[in-house]
Amino acid sequence: MLRRRTYIFVSGGVMSGVGKGVVTASIGALLKASGLRVTAIKIDPYLNVDPGTLNPIEHGEVFVTKDGIETDQDLGNYERFLDEDLTRLNVMTSGSVFQSIIARERALGYGGRTVEWVPDVPLEIIGRIKRASEAVNVFDSEAQTRGADVTLIEIGGTVGEYQNLLYLEACRMMRMEAPNDVLLMLVSYLPVPPNLGEMKTKPTQYAVRSLNAAGLQPDIIICRSQNPIDDRRKQKLSIACSVRSEDMFAAPNVSSIYEIPLRFAKEGVADRVLEKLHFKKRSVDLRQWKALTKRIRESERPVRIGIVGKYASTGNFLLTDTYLSVLEAIKHAAWTIKRKPEIVWLNAEELESSNGKIKQPFKGLDGILVPGGFGTRGVEGKIRAIRYAREKKVPYLGLCYGLQLATIEFARHVLKRKDAHTTEIVPTCGYPVIHLMNEQEERIKNKDYGGTMRLGAYPCLLQQGTLARKLYGKERIVERHRHRYECNPLYRCEFEAAGLLSSGLSPDGALLEMIELKGHPFFLASQFHPEFLSRPFHPHPLFVGFLKAAAKRSRK
Ligand code: GLN
Repeated sequence: MLRRRTYIFVSGGVMSGVGKGVVTASIGALLKASGLRVTAIKIDPYLNVDPGTLNPIEHGEVFVTKDGIETDQDLGNYERFLDEDLTRLNVMTSGSVFQSIIARERALGYGGRTVEWVPDVPLEIIGRIKRASEAVNVFDSEAQTRGADVTLIEIGGTVGEYQNLLYLEACRMMRMEAPNDVLLMLVSYLPVPPNLGEMKTKPTQYAVRSLNAAGLQPDIIICRSQNPIDDRRKQKLSIACSVRSEDMFAAPNVSSIYEIPLRFAKEGVADRVLEKLHFKKRSVDLRQWKALTKRIRESERPVRIGIVGKYASTGNFLLTDTYLSVLEAIKHAAWTIKRKPEIVWLNAEELESSNGKIKQPFKGLDGILVPGGFGTRGVEGKIRAIRYAREKKVPYLGLCYGLQLATIEFARHVLKRKDAHTTEIVPTCGYPVIHLMNEQEERIKNKDYGGTMRLGAYPCLLQQGTLARKLYGKERIVERHRHRYECNPLYRCEFEAAGLLSSGLSPDGALLEMIELKGHPFFLASQFHPEFLSRPFHPHPLFVGFLKAAAKRSRK
């Protein structure tokens, strides 16, 4: 029998950045907990083909799927909440949509007729949505036979933006075709201006009017705000927007995003969504979510982790979004050992000179983490932090650039190779411990930057007797990557002899994937990004090992 496919479009009102991704992911999690098969798609309406080449200041974290697609950070939220691996089918940008349309037109795929904005662009969008819900051609062959009962489609940005119109048009066309199978949800923001102290509904009313102008009426409104929306304001919205009060749900700020599925369940969001999609009433199994939130509440003793990064500032504001998955991975691991993670954001650029602003920047830290990164800015500050961790025996976890810089630090200060560096920064350096991977040379020469790094899941073999092998408890692992440079194999023996072990290698032995320091309580780094695999219900072994070592130090 053909599976029934249903769709929930999620669009935003008033402003972006109010947690639409987490709302989408939480609703998906609840539907999954009711036994349905769920998948989610993120639409980014910008013209870039993917966010891989975007400046983090513009975009925040670039998440990487197992099939090697650089995506928006919301994919990370979906994977964490749905506890599923997603693929290239789960993302769409206007850049990629137009790329397909133009390629098809060039290949005479439209049979010589005029290709129009409408309906051809929405039809391409609908085709992609349906392929994702049917899981056609996905990396995971098993998924092909499964597909999804419910596909959530989050449209980035807010209604009323020009670039969203064609996606709303796709939603309208799908609803027209199958009104019982397509739901539209508006996640809107209700401000409480401090000078008034009252929640205002008017901006949301305008957002609904914008949807109406696109031929759409929302079925459900999720009211994001500082506090829960009251009945009075629900009534106001209801009259103005033709959405019944029982179809409006409060989504106030919460201390942990992992509380949201339970809150929504209590408010009856899942029941209402299921009813509106004409599913029979189903019970929602919340045991896992309850156990998780209990664990979070019980994690009271702090453990302090310093993340040495480049923090994007826009005007007067500092953004830490770039390291979202790292932050979540730290939390997942800390909660499993009932510790409350306290993050100290260390600005790598400020650490570059030892007489910088902060006198003792590493004081009181139980662990130091250097995450992924690119380019020159802040590099010497990161190396300084790594040196401190190595010499003072503070637990250290290095991710990607954090491995490469740990190698440079070791070469400079232990092997006394003062000129050690990466060719990413000093192309002609005398002791290039990190250099461009072979297959990357041509790409850089041809300015072929988009989606051409070593991306996605690759296997790695862990060497016997190493900490890495002990933490994973197995020899073969598969982890996600995003890099162009690698450890230069020329120097491997020299490093090994001095105590920096190659604990993980690619199966052919060519690429160094993990290093660790002998005789240090915890000094470990990976060329891959373990943070992309950490899930609230399955914390990542490297992060758990790191947090355990940090917690041990904090007891001292
Ligand atoms: N810049 C380094 C490289 O390209 C590290 C990348 C990263 O940390 N993701 O190899």
